[in-house]
Amino acid sequence: MADHDLTQEHVHPHGRGGHDHGPVAAHSHDPDIMLTGLTILGLAVALVDRFWTALPHGVAAAGLALAFAAGGVPAALVAGRELIGKGRLDIDLLMVLAAVAAASVGAALEGAVLLALFSLSGTLEHRAMGRARRAVKALMQLRPDTALRLRPDGGTDEVAVAALAVGDLLILRPGARVPVDGRVAEGSGAVDESTITGEALPVNKAAGDLLHEATVNLHGVLTMVVARPLADSTVARMIRLVTEAQATRAPSERFSEWFGARYTVAVLLGSVAVFAGLMALGWSLHDAMYRAATVLVAASPCAVVISVPAAILSALSSAARGGVLFKGGAALEMLAEVRVFAFDKTGTLTTGRAEVTGLVALDGATDDEVLALLAGIEAQSEHHIAAAVLRLALERAVTPVAVGGVRAWPSEGITGTDATGPLWAGNARMVARMAANGAHEGLAGLQGGDQTVVHLGRGARLLGAVSVADVARRTAAAGIAALRRAGVDEIVMMTGDRPEVAQRIGRELGIADGEVHAGLLPEDKVRLVGDLASHGRVAFVGDGVNDAAALARADVGIAMGAAGSEVALQAAEVALLSEDMQRLALAHRLAQRTARIIKQNLFFAIGAMGVLVVGGLFFALPLPLAVVGHEGGTLLVVLNGLRLLRDPIRVI
Ligand code: ADP
Ligand code: MG
Repeated sequence: MADHDLTQEHVHPHGRGGHDHGPVAAHSHDPDIMLTGLTILGLAVALVDRFWTALPHGVAAAGLALAFAAGGVPAALVAGRELIGKGRLDIDLLMVLAAVAAASVGAALEGAVLLALFSLSGTLEHRAMGRARRAVKALMQLRPDTALRLRPDGGTDEVAVAALAVGDLLILRPGARVPVDGRVAEGSGAVDESTITGEALPVNKAAGDLLHEATVNLHGVLTMVVARPLADSTVARMIRLVTEAQATRAPSERFSEWFGARYTVAVLLGSVAVFAGLMALGWSLHDAMYRAATVLVAASPCAVVISVPAAILSALSSAARGGVLFKGGAALEMLAEVRVFAFDKTGTLTTGRAEVTGLVALDGATDDEVLALLAGIEAQSEHHIAAAVLRLALERAVTPVAVGGVRAWPSEGITGTDATGPLWAGNARMVARMAANGAHEGLAGLQGGDQTVVHLGRGARLLGAVSVADVARRTAAAGIAALRRAGVDEIVMMTGDRPEVAQRIGRELGIADGEVHAGLLPEDKVRLVGDLASHGRVAFVGDGVNDAAALARADVGIAMGAAGSEVALQAAEVALLSEDMQRLALAHRLAQRTARIIKQNLFFAIGAMGVLVVGGLFFALPLPLAVVGHEGGTLLVVLNGLRLLRDPIRVI
């Protein structure tokens, strides 16, 4: 289990925030906050003494010593570790040197201000990035340790969740949390999915519907069948996503780090040069040191280095709270540039709650026989069609036939073998490959409409077919409209289903027939995504195994996180845990706001630094002003970035 990965903090050159922390759950007594608090306390004592009323002898000095110890020592340790461990000069080093230089020329108070503000901005930044991870960690604690497993004799055993196997039947009492991902086998009722999707309204679940780990069964008694082992269930998937997010950096983040590393060396050398130059010109040691310290503070690139991660991490955290998980800042920056959105249909624009609307049995087979075989083979499919078929079998109390050796053919169907021999189920393409009697007149009733038809066959013989109605998601039309309003140039649909079905759904959602591409194989989706790349950055939104390649090919792959398949999730950079398409539009807007804030921050940080450096070099800028200008600028860019925290993805 990737559990321990959560405790590894994102390492960042600014502040001591990024290093060697205990488990995230211990955040209530986070050492960061305590040290920052002590630094500020020490500084406050010294400020009171200087500007308000003289304190007893030695108290002010003790305050300064406290500020230097609590603010300076941890930063010095980080700087030392970076220098010795990685041979890298760190901004922490600049700050400590500047504070010590200030103290050595009698400006200890300014040094303490520097350390306190530096410590504060590091802590603020650290808070922002810890937040998304804490949300996931908290989820893990919501997961129950045990579950009630149904015995064949009707009794129940309380078993450890880790011991559950796919196919086990569990009883969920009212108020119980779902222990692993599964499907409702019996009963119906409302489920609160807010832990996973951020969606406040409960969702009604009936036989065949997916139940996500860590959601709450509100009223009814549900029997569920375990669909995924614990290690592949929703929470474990989310943890994997967040862990991957730590490994990837946004381009602008890499820029700011690269800049910070180079620039730090330059600042250090520059300050030494100023000091040496002024000494050579005959300045006193005190004055030369003072001026060099001023330049050191003025030129330190803290604001530049911190401006990008402060914004990105805040945005990632806001998105995560709204049920949109980004695998890192690169995906966020890319999403801001997307001009073209391509959507998969089944399971993405349409719900996973398709209904079987018709059933035809051919050549002397009975309806129940067809259903038993079809349910048997679909029982092992993740496809939404499978859920519809299984639900019907449960309703009609038809027992699925045991089918082994199942293999999915993305965008076509599925094959397997039962006691009698090989079986297949799928669309017209599958029929063309398998069956001799594909044009069976018995199918006329099903094929006439714009329904998705799933054929069942054994060898070359067509045994029957069902039609499945595919319903657009409640939020899909609004989500697409919002994207269009946001100025997205082009929205297209790509599906493996029939054109009639695809165009009907497209019309409901405001996607023109010309922008609906149907009957596609997975490789066709990839090719079309490639073609769209000439119109601008492309995002692909999909859920299925057949979408994985297109998700990987697109500039930004967005997977239906909770409802989609594991393969899709791995190929994508973004996961929509909520099935609410409006959040996609909100995530897009958040990405654009983030890009804007990063630009503002970089512009401001570089500009402020330039002014301070010129002031420090040529205009005898006093050290306190340099400190306030430098740290004030840093704090401003952090706060500007943290504004994104208050922009959670919520639909009102
Ligand atoms: P989309 O690309 O819109 O997500 P899919 O490619 O998943 O749609 O499905 C396209 C078609 O392939 C379905 O409409 C169905 O006819 C067939 N198909 C895919 N998987 C299965 C399955 N497990 N059982 C039966 N038919 C399937
Ligand atoms: Mg799909």
